[in-house]
Amino acid sequence: MSVAWSQSTWKVLLIAVYFAKIVVTKTAHGDGENQSPFRLPDAISPIHYQLTLLPVIEENPRLCGHVWIDVTVNSPTNAIVLHGQVLPVESVVYADSEVIDNEVSRMLVERMCFSGVLDALDSLSDDKPKSRDDKDIAQSVHLDEDSEQMIIILKEELIVGAFYRIGILYLAEINDGDNIGFFRVQKKQEDNNCCRQRWIGSTQLEATHARKVFPCFDEPAFKATIELTLGHDSKLRAISNMPSNSSTSLKTVDDWVWTTFEKTPVMSTYLLACVISELEYLETSYLSINGRNITIRLWTEKQKFSQLDLAYRLVPTIMETLEDYFGIPYTLPKLDMVSLPGYDLARAMENWGLIVQSESTLLQESDANDPMEKAIFAITIVHEIAHQWFGNLVTSRWWSDIWFNEGLATLFENIVLNEIAPELGVDVITVLFFQQALFHDTLNLSIPLNYPVELLPTIEHKFDGFAYAKASVIFRMVKSFVGDEAFKNGLHRYFNQFQFKAANSTDFWAILTQESRRACTLSPRKHVGRIMKTWTEQSGYPLIQVDRNPNGTIQLTQTPFIDSSNPLTDNFTETVAWWVPISMTNGADPKFSLDDRIPVVWLTPKVPSVAIKGPDDTNVWILVNLQYSGYYRVNYDRLGWELLSEQLIRDHTVIPPLNRAQLIDDVFTLCHVKTLPYEVSVRLVEYLGRAEEENFVRSVAVGHVGRIKQMMALQGIHDEKLDAMVKVMMTYIVPTQNTESRNHYNSGQLDVHCHNDDKLCVDRILDLFRGYINDTVTPAQSSLTKKHFEDIWCTALRYGGPLEWSYAWNSSRDSSATLSKKRKILKAMACTTDTSRIKQLLSRVFLPKINQEPIETSIILNSLAENPSARLLAMKFVMLNWAFLNKHFRNPPRMRDLLVAVTRRSSSLNELEKVNEFLEDKANELGPAVIDLIVATISSNVRQIELQKIHLKYHTLIGETGNDLTRLEENVASVLQTSQLLNCLENDRNVAGMIVLLPIGGHKTPK
Ligand SMILES: [Zn+2]
Repeated sequence: MSVAWSQSTWKVLLIAVYFAKIVVTKTAHGDGENQSPFRLPDAISPIHYQLTLLPVIEENPRLCGHVWIDVTVNSPTNAIVLHGQVLPVESVVYADSEVIDNEVSRMLVERMCFSGVLDALDSLSDDKPKSRDDKDIAQSVHLDEDSEQMIIILKEELIVGAFYRIGILYLAEINDGDNIGFFRVQKKQEDNNCCRQRWIGSTQLEATHARKVFPCFDEPAFKATIELTLGHDSKLRAISNMPSNSSTSLKTVDDWVWTTFEKTPVMSTYLLACVISELEYLETSYLSINGRNITIRLWTEKQKFSQLDLAYRLVPTIMETLEDYFGIPYTLPKLDMVSLPGYDLARAMENWGLIVQSESTLLQESDANDPMEKAIFAITIVHEIAHQWFGNLVTSRWWSDIWFNEGLATLFENIVLNEIAPELGVDVITVLFFQQALFHDTLNLSIPLNYPVELLPTIEHKFDGFAYAKASVIFRMVKSFVGDEAFKNGLHRYFNQFQFKAANSTDFWAILTQESRRACTLSPRKHVGRIMKTWTEQSGYPLIQVDRNPNGTIQLTQTPFIDSSNPLTDNFTETVAWWVPISMTNGADPKFSLDDRIPVVWLTPKVPSVAIKGPDDTNVWILVNLQYSGYYRVNYDRLGWELLSEQLIRDHTVIPPLNRAQLIDDVFTLCHVKTLPYEVSVRLVEYLGRAEEENFVRSVAVGHVGRIKQMMALQGIHDEKLDAMVKVMMTYIVPTQNTESRNHYNSGQLDVHCHNDDKLCVDRILDLFRGYINDTVTPAQSSLTKKHFEDIWCTALRYGGPLEWSYAWNSSRDSSATLSKKRKILKAMACTTDTSRIKQLLSRVFLPKINQEPIETSIILNSLAENPSARLLAMKFVMLNWAFLNKHFRNPPRMRDLLVAVTRRSSSLNELEKVNEFLEDKANELGPAVIDLIVATISSNVRQIELQKIHLKYHTLIGETGNDLTRLEENVASVLQTSQLLNCLENDRNVAGMIVLLPIGGHKTPK
């Protein structure tokens, strides 16, 4: 193998290419987007790419390529503008469409990669017939670094309606670390004696990285067919979106082959993918609704085949279920799903026909029996498969609408799993999404789903967890109010009408309007688009107040939900309103079926309050928002809450689990923001002390009570009354063995949490754990330890000594342990309250012998952030070692998530100031959205504590000072001072230039 590759090669090329800013006349886009320097003009549309790629992924990594792009001309132009973050070596434009001789492209690329660029250029002048030179109408090529565009200036104007062919020979980079564009990963060696680990080459082109791999029209709406030829070492397997159809040897080097893949259907560039690796596959298949047999291959290392069990079982069924639902067959002849060793944390990309994911999202260890873990695992698989329709078959016109496909893919996680694996209990995911969306929206800083994006970094910011969660619950609401039948028919029509095209939410709303009118679920005067505008173009959500009027009618009123403890609510206008579908049932005739979720009445921006007829018996409970179908919270009058609490105590199963979770979440949230006194939530969760309740419902209450406890503990608030209420609630939500309710909850199980440091309980767990270490446990104890692995380990490591700690430390290094087990051990180790152990765990990442994977670092830091004894250390660690962690993770979004995680429990002014300083320093890197989120979260925490203190002080003062007004005033003044300081800090943020791009007030209520 001869490699001629050096810095000087690049220099020679740089001379040949002009870097300049060129002004090109741009016509407006058909999708109504603003004319932006970052968008391509639509004078030219691509039809087909003939792409030849030669990635060298071992030594001197480099990517050599050639592309023929067939285009058609829509309007006269004398320049071709496309995307390209590559170095063009030679560019030509021909006005013909002769059959392409792929051999010439292969030869050129081969020479360039293995003999050097100059050799390739030489051969170009030797091989090219003179006559073709005359036909070339390209005059010069320019690269614009800011817009990542390549501009080819032409000798003549292109003729409208005519076809042209652009040919570009180019050099590009193999990305070594960021996992974008064409990148390589290498699995870390667990055993140094083992064979050399080869590199794996793969691609990640969403959102705007296709341009790093080949010059192309890199916007989702520019769809074209792609025919890929990929050169690689013959010992490696190459896969792409389509099956391969031929293979020929390279001329220049031995043992390398060109693999050619079948032509794709028309598709967006960001969905192109290829993987070259030594991985192997397990094959299965299913029968598509149009009678074709679709091959499914799941790829991993051979020794991990057993971990593919769950995916192997689920994938064909998921495909069948989605085809049945949509009535539209999967388009491609095969689907490959690849788990990349050494790839990013919990990441997956839905490339058409070739889903590329991290190991943790495709491999499921057989010992993993946590249903929640299984559910989360399964939803990722459904999500990526659902994208084969949402996104791949029909694509969003532009990235502003990305929430649309993400929301639908997320919605179908639930729909599909409820059908094929109800035992996974994915209701829990619905609740998590609701809580995440509502919590984020309560902070009142989230930007509307539909906000426009143009700048490249902000496109990446659109892919945040909040947008996925909110979009999915918004779709859940749409599906409920138009009804299942109309939703299903609407999707079928949508796919039929827009397949192989680009569409946006407006197109879908129009179809749904027609379908729901046909199904009589929506009156002729209502339009889904108009309804949804109020949900997607403004942030926040409504609170529905349900009151009984003296005449027996029920008064329903919407107001924006406002957290008065949140300083940002000052910016919020109370005139914001939504189209709110009200579904409702009552104690006289409780109904929760799909049909019952069709709204009985709508609250609208014009009519925000209505009275409707109530049940004849005025003493029965009323429940609004059936099965968590609407994106809003509900508050009842005191009688309303009391009647619901009584029902839960009498027989909680009359109300479905999702609604029970919702009632608990709503009541606590309303108490946190002081709309209701905590007595109401104490009463509502009373039933938990006696009832067998689903874990996910119980965990909603546990989360809220934990929040109150943590706030009180962190800030040393001594509110005896609240303290007493928390104690009562604790006995309801997590009964210990001493309480009477013990018999009803998890009967026969061991209390593995040891609440309130119950010494007896702790001793028993430590005994069990030591028996486990010494291998002296009985089979029953062994199965108990396995079942409650995380809880038992956590308790043992929190209360145990050096013995327990060093056992865990060594176990976490055991190379034969599965990732899932390691993850649990590290999580448990983060339960320690010992400062030196916390520090040891934090510095684990620096130990070369351990070679800690980013996923392990992430688990450690996220877990420590939830441990009150370790939280502050974890936060300081992240800030202090930011540069190191950045290199370690090589993933900016992960770094942002990490920062959010380690700061979100901060609740003192001092911490807020420190975090603020750090954020200011990293403003450019982090982006305004995440800075807003962090500051607002901490401010809200601080505010809540201050409010609690004020509340407490007020009552104490009244008691203490009696009529001494001067003392009363002094004390009130000191409380107010803190409050004002917080305000100043808030306002200063703009001055400090941290929120220049996205002023908080600016996107609340767009006109
Ligand atoms: Zn997605």
